[in-house]
This record gives sequence, structure tokens and C-alpha cells, in this order.
Amino acid sequence: MAKLTGSRFRWINEQLYTISSEDALKMIKEQPQLFDEYHDGFKSQVESWPENPVDVFVEEIRQRSKRPVNAPGGLPGLKNKQIVIADMGCGEAQLALDINKYFAQIDKRSKPNHRKSHVVHSFDLKKANDLITVADIKNVPLPDNSCTIVVFCLALMGTNFLDFIKEAYRLLAPRGELWIAEIKSRFADGKGEEFVEALKLLGFFHKKTDNENKMFTRFEFFKPPQEIIEERRAKLERKHKFIAVSYTHLRAHETCAD
Ligand code: SAH
Repeated sequence: MAKLTGSRFRWINEQLYTISSEDALKMIKEQPQLFDEYHDGFKSQVESWPENPVDVFVEEIRQRSKRPVNAPGGLPGLKNKQIVIADMGCGEAQLALDINKYFAQIDKRSKPNHRKSHVVHSFDLKKANDLITVADIKNVPLPDNSCTIVVFCLALMGTNFLDFIKEAYRLLAPRGELWIAEIKSRFADGKGEEFVEALKLLGFFHKKTDNENKMFTRFEFFKPPQEIIEERRAKLERKHKFIAVSYTHLRAHETCAD
């Protein structure tokens, strides 16, 4: 039975990495039991690892929640200090469960005006429990700039996974953070340097790469602050204007030559 579960897991895993996210959503809608089979195998694989990346993210939340929101070393929050986390490809929403439990515990101990407001949105292909919203993570039902942390924990599956990164950029408020954990063996260079470059091209700043763990690599990026986003936009507009002007000149010359 264990062998069979393992091979089914590997087969579904292979499917999810080699099809587009639209097809993955369709596949799980039509055969929801594939999700359960996948997660049976996924769980036993991660249990055999020295560390589960979800636990590493939860620990980071715990440590950084000791400082004020938006302060150096603290968690990023919206202007009203709310910490809004989107867990993309959440599986069974372990991250939300653990974080909600942690904040409930510290709320009991802290004075009302010291309590931190937080919300975790969990997205996946199947609604395994009430915390989960079914969505393709290339397009989730949340407004632009509405999140302060977007997490992909072993969830960059699908041939169009860069669309998920673009979606994270859309969701994040300026200075919002992107946290990623990916299986080490995925990176041809072993370190994920090319991956980091690809994300920088999509507008992110790289904060750190953590290669400590044997099985997975953890990356942290952030969306630039508002001033830099505006500078970039102005630069792009100047470039477009320059191209438009050059093009008009070129056309004028061509017309003269005619
Ligand atoms: N983040 C969880 C689960 C990781 S398994 C954890 O670390 O425990 C990867 C998950 O990504 C699976 O549950 C799979 O269904 C989900 N997934 C893959 N492609 C997706 C997509 N396009 N949209 C939403 N979820 C997706």
C-alpha cells in the first residue's frame, strides 16, 4: 500500500509540475480525490524531512511578531497595521491554522491595545477545510496592494509559475514581502541564483536566500517602496515617450524620402 501511495503521489506531482495552472484547476475539479491522494504522499514525504518549511515560516512570524508592526525586524503591515498574509497553494492550510493559534495565544496575554490584527487567506485547488478558498493562484480573489506577506511554500507548480509571482506582486502592498520555499533539487545551479534573477526582473527586491536546510531553499523578496515604484513608472513613461517621438521622426523622414 505504501509503495502504491508513493507512486501515485509521484505521478500526480509530476502532472502538477508539467501542466498549466488552468489545467491543474480543471484536473482537481474533475477528480478531487487526486488532491487527497497527493496530500497523503506529500505528508509522508515531508514528515521524513528534518524540518517542515511551514514550521520555519511560522517560527519567523513568531519571532518577528515580538517587535512592533512595520518597525525594523517586525512584521510588515498595512497602514492600519493589519498583517495580511496570503498562503498560495496552502494544501490543508497548516500555515493559517498555526498562525491563528499562535496569535490567539498571545492575544490572551497582551493588553488590548498591544494586540496585533492579522488575517491569513489560504488558497488551493480543493477546499479541504473551511479556511480554504478554491482558486488558481495565478489569479486569486483579493484586491491589488491588499497583502503584506505572500507565501508560496512548495507551491510553485505549473508551467506558468512565473504568473504566480506576478500575482504576488499585484497582491502585495509596497514593502510587502514574498516568502518562498522550494525543493532544492529544482535548482539546476543548486543555489537558486537564476531563480532570484528572474524574480528581480519581475520587479522584486531580493532580501535573502537561506540554504541551511538540506531539502529546501527559502527565499525572501519584497516589493519596492512606493517612491521606487513611482520612479520606475516615470522612467518607463519617459522611455515610451522617447520611442514614440523617435518613431514619429522616423515616419516624417520616410514621408520626405517618398
Ligand atoms: N503549502 C503547503 C502545501 C504544499 S503542496 C505546505 O507546504 O504544506 C503544493 C500545493 O500547491 C498543493 O496542495 C497543490 O494543490 C497546490 N497548487 C498547485 N498548483 C496550484 C494552483 N495553480 N492554484 C492553487 N493551488 C495550487
